[in-house]
Amino acid sequence: MAKNWMVSEDGSKERLNIKENLRFMLKNWFEWDKKSLWLLAYSTPSKIALPALTALIPKLMLDAIAQDWLPAKLIVLIAAMSVLLALLSWIEPNLNEKLRVSGQLARMKYRIMSLRKIMRIDYETLESPEGSQKLAKAKDFSFGGRWSPGEDFFAAVKDFISSAFGLITFAALLTRLSPILLAIIAVGCGLEIWGFHLGNQNMFKYHRNARPNYARIEYINRVCTDAETGKDVRLYNLQPWFMDFMHSVVMSHRKLVGKLIRQDLGTKVTLGAFAGMLREGAAYFFLVQAVLSESITVPDFLFYFGIVTGFSAWLISLTWQWSNIQRCCKACQHFRDYMDLPDNAQAGNLSVGDSIDEIEFRDVSFTYKGSIDPVLKDVSFTIRKGEKLAIVGENGAGKTTLIKLLCGFYPPTKGQILLNGIDIREYDRENYYKIFGAVFQDFTFLPVSVSRNVTIAPQEDEDAQRLEAALRNAGLWDKLNALPDGLESPMVKDVWEGAVNFSGGERQRLLLARALYKNAPVLILDEPTAALDPIAENRLYEKYSRFTQGKTSFFISHRIASTRFCERIFYMADGKIAEEGNHEQLLANQGAYYKMFETQSYYYRKELGTEDIGEEELAV
Ligand code: ADP
Repeated sequence: MAKNWMVSEDGSKERLNIKENLRFMLKNWFEWDKKSLWLLAYSTPSKIALPALTALIPKLMLDAIAQDWLPAKLIVLIAAMSVLLALLSWIEPNLNEKLRVSGQLARMKYRIMSLRKIMRIDYETLESPEGSQKLAKAKDFSFGGRWSPGEDFFAAVKDFISSAFGLITFAALLTRLSPILLAIIAVGCGLEIWGFHLGNQNMFKYHRNARPNYARIEYINRVCTDAETGKDVRLYNLQPWFMDFMHSVVMSHRKLVGKLIRQDLGTKVTLGAFAGMLREGAAYFFLVQAVLSESITVPDFLFYFGIVTGFSAWLISLTWQWSNIQRCCKACQHFRDYMDLPDNAQAGNLSVGDSIDEIEFRDVSFTYKGSIDPVLKDVSFTIRKGEKLAIVGENGAGKTTLIKLLCGFYPPTKGQILLNGIDIREYDRENYYKIFGAVFQDFTFLPVSVSRNVTIAPQEDEDAQRLEAALRNAGLWDKLNALPDGLESPMVKDVWEGAVNFSGGERQRLLLARALYKNAPVLILDEPTAALDPIAENRLYEKYSRFTQGKTSFFISHRIASTRFCERIFYMADGKIAEEGNHEQLLANQGAYYKMFETQSYYYRKELGTEDIGEEELAV
């Protein structure tokens, strides 16, 4: 049972090590909830006793009648049997519930494990298609909806064990009667199990074929419930298109369901009926013969018939639970594959010193995994403490990628990035992250107060002065203080009903305030003004040299006018630093920077409605 083939959803086969996955899940079960393992010991006897007693009661009753028991004695027998039946029927669901709680506990633990992993995993892996594919697969283990293998493993093991013991007990009873009958019933069960297997394969194919439909329905739901799309849906009268699209998806789905039903009727249902006929026919044949030859009594007939039914149920349950355990192992394998992905793999354990004297890119090239063309090509530069560097260039030039490499999210494909002369891979990753205060284009806010979103610290650790300075520099102080709950106003509407609604520009300013509050030695602003209007943008530039004082700063933008206050400007094109200098030098070069500046300042003036404003006024 050590190794098995695991067929993936796309039809490919991979090795599945059942033993290792079983060991992993059992070990965790033992560690997290030892006590619940005892439930297995209680559950098995009661689960076997219930069908055995159900088979035995008619025999006992008929024997008692045949022996002319007194009514009082009969009543005592009936009462005793009923109490015993009730007790056994009560124990089983009770233990099941207890085990379900243990299963849920394990599911939560697995969720916590995967959540921790998601936040620690190498950024490169997180962003890669391979990483997100592995995460999607791993999620089923603990996040699955109705069926979560991390939880259901407990019940599957319990039922597998009781089915195995039940099967042995009932087989022993039947062997006493007729080993041939036992063999015929086993063959009948085998046919039924084969029917289930074919049914599962049909279901598997059905889900695979239905996946595009699920994706389309998901798309329709997502798009139609989105308020943003709602505007277009109304103004451009998109309802007929969406309704036709939905109709075509439903029709295609109906065909698939019809096919599944026809296939099931031809395989699973037919085999199941045939297996039932074989089992019961053989049972009647052998039992009637045994009664006629007087090797068993009529009450024994009833008892053995119950045992035949019970034996079939145990055998089918055993196979079913084994396939459940295999499914759990398969999901567990995906979970473990994800957990084994590298986190902070390239990081060393050096501590970054107090002063960031110099950052150097030395012949750095970088190609994204799965891509052919490099995004950065032999980029070399050095930036010293307190310098302000602007990186400009058209979209796709590689500016953000350069910053991602600087932050240590990706290792260079070629070359080195050095901090104070040491390759950044030598530094402890968490320690290294501390040197950056960054504003990226994507927003992430926590469902906590505005102030906590800026400081990330609990209220008692907040530095009120630093917070005020950060908010003032980001241009948010007055706005926030005018709110009814001021800085304590909650954020994130999905979680708090009364959360504050910030515009895109305000959210961008909040992120800036967060970066400023962190007071890290290196400040990175990646398109920090993209959501601001030109006037607000201009005000921010005015403050730029104040809030970057003493810090090494990187300012990334595709708007050239926004970078002229930086001492050094890189104009990036096609993954290279195509031009370098200060604003005046770059203009004097009359190269690509100059051309871009000319084009942009024309449109910029139009946007501001200030075609007559001079270059100097526009700049800062
Ligand atoms: P910029 O910031 O200058 O607009 P980027 O650094 O974001 O440019 O992107 C440079 C190139 O790298 C683009 O062609 C972009 O499509 C590609 N790219 C960006 N991120 C990824 C990624 N995660 N995987 C593959 N290619 C990427």
